[in-house]
Amino acid sequence: MAIAVTGTEDTSAGGRDTAMPHVVMVSFPGQGHLNPLLRLAKRVAAKGLLVTLCSTDDTARRIAAAASTSVGALAEPTRVGRGFIRFEFFSDGIAPDDPVRSDLDFLMASLRSAGPPALAALVRRQVVPVACIVNNPFVPWVLDVAADLGLPSGVLWVQSAAVFSIYYHCRHALAAFPSEDDPDAIVQLPGLPPLRPEDLPTFLLWTSPYQILKSVILEQFGNLSNASWVFANTFDELEHEAIEAISHRQVIIPVGPLVDPPPEEGGSKEIGGGEIKADLFKAADESIQWLARHPPRSVVYVSVGSVVVLTEEEMEEMAWGLKQTGRPFLWVVRSDARERLPAGFAEEVAAEGIGMLVEWSPQERVLEHEAVACFLTHCGWNSTTEALTAGVPVVAYPQWGDQVPDAKMLEEACGVGVRLPAPATRAELQRCVKAVTEGEMAETIRRRASEWKEAAAKAVSEGGSSDRHIQAFVDEVTKRAAPAAN
Ligand code: UDP
Repeated sequence: MAIAVTGTEDTSAGGRDTAMPHVVMVSFPGQGHLNPLLRLAKRVAAKGLLVTLCSTDDTARRIAAAASTSVGALAEPTRVGRGFIRFEFFSDGIAPDDPVRSDLDFLMASLRSAGPPALAALVRRQVVPVACIVNNPFVPWVLDVAADLGLPSGVLWVQSAAVFSIYYHCRHALAAFPSEDDPDAIVQLPGLPPLRPEDLPTFLLWTSPYQILKSVILEQFGNLSNASWVFANTFDELEHEAIEAISHRQVIIPVGPLVDPPPEEGGSKEIGGGEIKADLFKAADESIQWLARHPPRSVVYVSVGSVVVLTEEEMEEMAWGLKQTGRPFLWVVRSDARERLPAGFAEEVAAEGIGMLVEWSPQERVLEHEAVACFLTHCGWNSTTEALTAGVPVVAYPQWGDQVPDAKMLEEACGVGVRLPAPATRAELQRCVKAVTEGEMAETIRRRASEWKEAAAKAVSEGGSSDRHIQAFVDEVTKRAAPAAN
């Protein structure tokens, strides 16, 4: 279904409707991909464009279920600032309810063959002509669809500029990386400190069990130069040197941190849209009421994102370690990890009222809550940027991929936390929580966290470094779409 959205200021002019410039954004079906693209969509829409956010039919079912709405309702345009956002979906080539889509290999192959014709048809049937297509990682074929349709395209990189640079240099064989022959090689890249093997995204290590992910990630750098814009969910103040250095090879445009505006701005005409979500899990909104019952800076918030599953041993140490901190805790234990909790723990938590276990939290609102003292995180890039934006001290517990360099950045470059050594023990967990919440070092960490919060807010505020880049994109799309609009 396609809906014509008209520019309100022009509807009265001679009784003729004028279509808004229309950007289609295409997301890989993963939470860590959907969130930043939706947030970019909001920033772009707020400046006066219509954005249709697209993903797979299966994603549609999950978003609708999590938001207690219908897939049809998602196609309705919602006003955001001076523009609109709506959703539309296409087939991934896999039957509904077929669990095979959880096999990444299979999903990628199916998306690659079913995705291009389905997306091309979706774009062609739009009532408001499409001016540009933007995609995020893992769906590089979208750039080819745009080229076939004669449309300009953009890519949103959803990790740090540093990690972009590392993968870029690896894909184009521009630097020596650790290998079986030279397992301890130190990687030297412009704009980045020397990188030891343990500083790299783990998928690049020759010992990584996830070689499929390595090829999926590196493949995206193959046709990237076809994109007119390569955006990144970072900001100049955070990664100035890395952004500048890689831009000698591939210009990346920082537009982050991509976070929702704080609730008090939700109704502002400039941004708004905070209520539009693409959650794949139903968030426990009651956790906000629970937080409100706790004193400022008292609660330990724990989440390992949408994919990581800790081992039973780690869950056990985490559980008793959290209890022994003596602090209230809000712990996201997804349904697929629930059975790994130690026996009786959930009951004990409920009976003693010492914490709250939820299957999914409204994380951004949680991090903004004054009751939160620190965030024990797996350091996915979204969680990393959300923690910086909220000014919350972190206990970093990275598992794999870019989480490893992200943790290093949080601890060493940003100075906003400490790293919990793996595998976690209850004693180390207590030590780390204490380090970021009590004493002189915690004071320093809190001060640094506040500084980053301020820098992040500045970057995305009107006229800030990232906001200017988004405005330039909107202006360019509007200019290119002008003939179609008249
Ligand atoms: N998230 C959430 N509720 C949760 C856990 C995570 O809303 O209980 C969101 C979080 O705010 C972030 C995304 O899910 O935007 C996870 O992305 P990230 O890059 O941090 O990790 P991934 O899930 O990709 O490993």
